[in-house]
Amino acid sequence: MTQQSFGVIGLAVMGENIALNVERNGFPIAVYNRSRDKTDKFMAERANGRNVKAAFTLEEFVAALERPRRILIMVQAGKPVDAVISQLRPLLDEGDIIIDGGNSWFEDTDRRTQELEPAGFRFIGMGVSGGEEGALNGPSLMPGGTQSSYQYLEPIFTKIAAQVDDGACVTYVGPGGSGHYVKMVHNGIEYGDMQLIAEAYDLLKNAAGLDHNQLHQVFSEWNTTDELNSFLIEITANIFPYVDQDTHLPLVDLIVDSAGQKGTGRWTVQTALELGVAIPTITAAVNGRIMSSYKQERIAASKILTGPTGKYEGDSKEFINKVRDALYCSKICSYAQGMALLSRASQTYNWNLKLGELARIWKGGCIIRAGFLNKIKNAFGENSSLPNLLLAPEFKQTILDRQNAWRDVLVTAAKLGIPVPAFSASLDYFDSYRRDRLPQNLTQAQRDYFGAHTYERVDKPGVFHTEWVPIT
Ligand code: NAP
Repeated sequence: MTQQSFGVIGLAVMGENIALNVERNGFPIAVYNRSRDKTDKFMAERANGRNVKAAFTLEEFVAALERPRRILIMVQAGKPVDAVISQLRPLLDEGDIIIDGGNSWFEDTDRRTQELEPAGFRFIGMGVSGGEEGALNGPSLMPGGTQSSYQYLEPIFTKIAAQVDDGACVTYVGPGGSGHYVKMVHNGIEYGDMQLIAEAYDLLKNAAGLDHNQLHQVFSEWNTTDELNSFLIEITANIFPYVDQDTHLPLVDLIVDSAGQKGTGRWTVQTALELGVAIPTITAAVNGRIMSSYKQERIAASKILTGPTGKYEGDSKEFINKVRDALYCSKICSYAQGMALLSRASQTYNWNLKLGELARIWKGGCIIRAGFLNKIKNAFGENSSLPNLLLAPEFKQTILDRQNAWRDVLVTAAKLGIPVPAFSASLDYFDSYRRDRLPQNLTQAQRDYFGAHTYERVDKPGVFHTEWVPIT
């Protein structure tokens, strides 16, 4: 009996689509899902006439696969992954490869690697980006684990991943949980992008007074520019003219302004705090979603707390261009933070991440795909030890050219009472990073005053403490 080349466990939206992608690229597959109904539905509705073997027990599933078995687990992250691994493990042979393609916490991936690899199995923790459409037609894949295991997967992954001008959107990321870590930071950057776009929308709608058609035009035009051309700007442009069939109103206006989150943005902020890396734009994006969730409280507060409500009174075309510049400068800062976090994680965990290569595999397939990533790839290509993306000549020049517009937009937003937390956090990041002296000399003096925490001096070496007394 011929055996299948690749197995997928978990037939929810992602598993189903990746399975079909693998099969379409010439690799016969076996599939299994805990609940039989999903498998039946998949076979009846989507797998018809394709080289797919449905298994209804894990024994049947394992028996259907050629060795070493290549098994992708695409189930809910967390305990379900452990549950599947523990059921699967007694059925596997030495050298078989388990891939966890969900959004797993990277430390869980490290733990699973340590449990499985010494027992003779191979384990790959792989970030998958691109949502259901990407999974079906070409995702961005971020596999981490033992490099020797990756060689068994490379022929399949390079075919199923999105293809861009410089290759497939997949690369061996690094050991252990690095693939899932990189995917998590990718998601954090995605939060930043989405918040920045939302703030630009707020300014254009509520300061400049643009209607839906105008918003569509502005975002469509921005999507043709070298700097902002991206999947997220494209879908934003498409959202504005979409009319609700029942009310004939723009659908976006009917959507409750309270954003959900599944946790990868929060994880990114948590790990950045632990590693001591400032990622204020991404943090502002997570906070933006949290503030948005206080819907009832905000409705009540809006009746009590007053502030400015006017419109921008200057030249509208000029303001739109300034918002575009502010968006781009802020986006550069957000990616600078994400890349700085990856760099610190790489040093801390000895992952040897190739930042330029990561930017390259995000150019296609994933939600943050954008022409701009080519510039990041090139920046790290020219200088792989770049301490911060802001120092790359192209980005430095862009911000120098546009920072006045960026500052003007923030002044306008503050005057009109329009919250722009991610725009502001980005400018603060830029201004803090470029200052050779920050006011934390005072912080150190205070710490020494109340807690004898000591301080260093600018004029001589050593560690000092002062018995501070009030000077009248
Ligand atoms: P999901 O809703 O996260 O998970 C549903 C799947 O998990 C079902 O197949 C379910 O089986 C299975 N499952 C849950 N608990 C289980 C257990 N204890 N034992 C065995 N199977 C169990 O599915 P998804 O949206 O396709 O996502 C899969 C993974 O990819 C997740 O980690 C997700 O975070 C990640 N991801 C999702 C997206 C996206 O756009 N959706 C994008 C990138 C990554 P039953 O049918 O039996 O309940």
